[in-house]
Amino acid sequence: MSDSQCIFCKIVSREIPSPLVYEDDEIVVFRDINPAAPVHLLIVPRLHIETLADCENQHGALLGKMVGLAPRLARQEGVGYAGRDGDGGFKTLINTGRGGGQEVYHLHIHVLGGPRPWKPR
Ligand code: 5GP
Ligand code: ZN
Repeated sequence: MSDSQCIFCKIVSREIPSPLVYEDDEIVVFRDINPAAPVHLLIVPRLHIETLADCENQHGALLGKMVGLAPRLARQEGVGYAGRDGDGGFKTLINTGRGGGQEVYHLHIHVLGGPRPWKPR
């Protein structure tokens, strides 16, 4: 299902061209247009789910796949976890609703990393 008004659905459908960092049959990943950190990726399901709060048990596998992609992509971007004593690492973030600062109502996980300072998110 997609929403014709949704900017991320338009990126998923290629109606709006945006270079993809990763894609498979369920997920696309692209760079945030207004990055808050040197690495700022958005992990986005092809399925239009508005918020994390709209997820149900049936979405568990998809959510697990999205979360599991984060460390892999972070490593690919040079900000992977390098153990507790290493400098590497990244932040994962899901904003939900106005109170959570959500701007785009199509579920996504932010992956942020790289040298600070970062813009506040
Ligand atoms: P939210 O606040 O909903 O968690 O995050 C939405 C993010 O999507 C923001 O960081 C914003 O910069 C990014 N964004 C909004 N529109 C576009 C777009 O058209 N292309 C890309 N690549 N990112 C977008
Ligand atoms: Zn959408």
